[in-house]
Amino acid sequence: MVSHSQPDRRWLTAHGAEQEALHGRAAELTRSHFGRRVFVRGVVEVSNHCRENCHYCGMRRDNRALARFRARHDQLAELLIHHRPASLTDVNIQTGEDPVAVREVVVPLVRTLRRETPLGVSVCLGTLTEALYDELQAAGASLYIIKFELSDAARYEQLEAPGTLAERLRHIRLLAARGWRVSSGFIAGLPDQGADDLLANLRLARELPLDGCSVSPFIPGEATPLGHAPVGAVDAALNCMAALRLLRSEWVIPAVSALNLTGADDGYQRGLRAGANLCTINLTPSEIRGDYLLYKRERFIMNEERVLHAISAAGREVSRTSLAEHWPAKPLAIPVLAG
Ligand code: SF4
Repeated sequence: MVSHSQPDRRWLTAHGAEQEALHGRAAELTRSHFGRRVFVRGVVEVSNHCRENCHYCGMRRDNRALARFRARHDQLAELLIHHRPASLTDVNIQTGEDPVAVREVVVPLVRTLRRETPLGVSVCLGTLTEALYDELQAAGASLYIIKFELSDAARYEQLEAPGTLAERLRHIRLLAARGWRVSSGFIAGLPDQGADDLLANLRLARELPLDGCSVSPFIPGEATPLGHAPVGAVDAALNCMAALRLLRSEWVIPAVSALNLTGADDGYQRGLRAGANLCTINLTPSEIRGDYLLYKRERFIMNEERVLHAISAAGREVSRTSLAEHWPAKPLAIPVLAG
């Protein structure tokens, strides 16, 4: 079975037997590339300060009601060195767009983890300066997660997504050219988003120099301008995940925790049957986790037990190879960050 060069519009609206066949093809392609293996990483959410104002996120800077935090290096280092779940091979360090936290907490934490543990290190920190990207890379991080969120530049601006779409894409290309492994992602089911918009998202994802891509079903966030909009349909997100797999058999595609929040009981597990090959265990200390307000305060926390259950229920097994080992180092091709 081979990857497709372009997405097919019918994939996005598939349901019933057609959808089963689509997801089955995506699962088969995943198996042919990765076997039954699913990567398992942990995530720590280091800061909920954010200078951006995305309409779909509760951590936007206009949400003045939110108690803001920055976690301490020692607290997270202790947790990840001595108390991490045995199934983890990688850790993702995530913040709102908060360069202060990156300099003061994330860079030292990456250094500590690379020195004290065998974990591969991913970061998801927003649009930063080239100097900060280099500092993170020198500290030992190798995967940068930076979502383009949606491919319609006018709508991107309307939703106050970070910077401009053009700038976001420029940073994705810059990171890839500077030797980072880059994973991006988009939201499926935003208000007024139709099949053509999702098709454009898939085309854009396919063109970018990525090693992975996620699809997050839209979840109306507490204290956001989209708080009263309907939840994105889980089927649209799952069909997009399957489509990504059909387009890129070699990509790492996460099952995102938001698949648990669409009202469908089995969204997360279905993700693992529709092309996903990465699960994330949330390790953020419980005393600060509630304020990491991506969607709602009552978060559905993917702990190790839930992740392992989902993997085994989907007939898959935990990878012993980390993401960092899976991807060999990339040659550098330093571009100019123009515009
Ligand atoms: S999505 Fe990210 S950049 Fe946008 S407001 Fe939320 S934390 Fe900030």
